[in-house]
Amino acid sequence: MEFGLHESLPFFAGGLGILAGDHLKAASNLGIPLTGMGIMFREGYFRQFLLDTNLPENPEVVRNITSRLYDSHYETRIAQEVLLGIGGIKVLTAMDIFPNICHMNEGHCSFAGLERISIIMDKYNLDFQSAIELCKRSCIFTTHTPVAAGHDEFPKELIHPYIKPYAVKFGILEKELLSWGKLSGTKDTGKFSMFIFGVRFSGYINGVSRLHGEVARRMWQSLWPKRPVEEIPISHVTNGVHICSYISRHKNSLLERYLSSDWSCMMYNPDLVSGIDNIEDSDLWHVHELDRSNLIRKCRQLLLKQYEKRNAPKNILDEVVTVMNPRVLTICFARRFATYRRAGLLLKDIPRLTKLITDEKRPIQIVFAGKAHPNDNEGKNIIKQIVEFARVYDVRHRVIFLENYDINIARHMVQGCDVWLNTPRRPNEACGTSGMKAAANMEG
Ligand SMILES: *Cc1c(COP(=O)(O)O)cnc(C)c1O
Repeated sequence: MEFGLHESLPFFAGGLGILAGDHLKAASNLGIPLTGMGIMFREGYFRQFLLDTNLPENPEVVRNITSRLYDSHYETRIAQEVLLGIGGIKVLTAMDIFPNICHMNEGHCSFAGLERISIIMDKYNLDFQSAIELCKRSCIFTTHTPVAAGHDEFPKELIHPYIKPYAVKFGILEKELLSWGKLSGTKDTGKFSMFIFGVRFSGYINGVSRLHGEVARRMWQSLWPKRPVEEIPISHVTNGVHICSYISRHKNSLLERYLSSDWSCMMYNPDLVSGIDNIEDSDLWHVHELDRSNLIRKCRQLLLKQYEKRNAPKNILDEVVTVMNPRVLTICFARRFATYRRAGLLLKDIPRLTKLITDEKRPIQIVFAGKAHPNDNEGKNIIKQIVEFARVYDVRHRVIFLENYDINIARHMVQGCDVWLNTPRRPNEACGTSGMKAAANMEG
């Protein structure tokens, strides 16, 4: 549903989209033929190949389907997922593209399975049973969250009109096709699960880290009631990041010097990568200090904007541009503030934290960035606590909060931090990737 390619392309919400964007970029670098299918959310301003219903010949209600990502209205959300799954496969077919493998990234695009079966039936003149077998052998499903609320579920009756034509084509009852969205043999709750539906079409299912694979097997064990948990067919492929999108220019030139001028094309070669150990500490420290200074400059610019927007008085604005110190150990924490990530954990022992921040010889400073979901009051509260802490304990020049976390802010933070802080509660984090971006910049 989302691709986070660059800060100038505003059709992503968070980690899932960033991962999908990194995946596209990595496939492109490796020359792997891969087509991404996403939606042209209208608030965007670039024209890629992306699905868009905002055409003058469409009625108003259809034009609005692609207004915003993850619309909170069921009807619009379902229409988006029908557009993405069914529309996406139809577009590929219209372009004469018949992918060998169809990768469904989360349940948002599970409807793709329906259209794929339909196309297989037509293209190879197969009956429904054979077509679904073929579909399963060529569909991959990745699940991304161990939090049950993260999976789409819709009222069954809203799905019904969309699956009706497929039931006719497949020669099965509408009721049966609808029942694919729930656990077999369980009572009808009136809910249609996009995860369960997507899994029906997929021969290979994976979570996004070893631990998440285990969690997902336990979480969905009831889908395969006859199997012991270790035989639940969900494996894992650990997420990764597109290193070239996050490594700093300075560190890139260091690697060019020590490894090879085209190291980034060969980073899968362990012999090459082990050359990192030859980097002189002083060289690494020098470029890292440049990156940290760069981060501090960025923080000041962003803070100034934040305060200007609130019409802060001039004396405050003058102070804002002197916050942080480019020579002080810098800890960064940047995430969407879901409760389980415990962004406020540092505040558990305020006297100790204050002592660390204000130590005369070896002080520290902390940059927080993130967003709380609009309905997540607890997340919003953590942001408030951080800002309050900095104010009450008079450490506003050492503890800052950056609003509107995006790829641009992320890039500066992962490049310039000394320590990347990540404190999720096990095992709720499927697979964090921002720490990998910091590690690629050779930080702690
Ligand atoms: C990398 C990244 C994320 C995802 O980070 P996680 O650690 O996986 O949560 C989210 N937003 C932006 C802007 C990113 O660059």
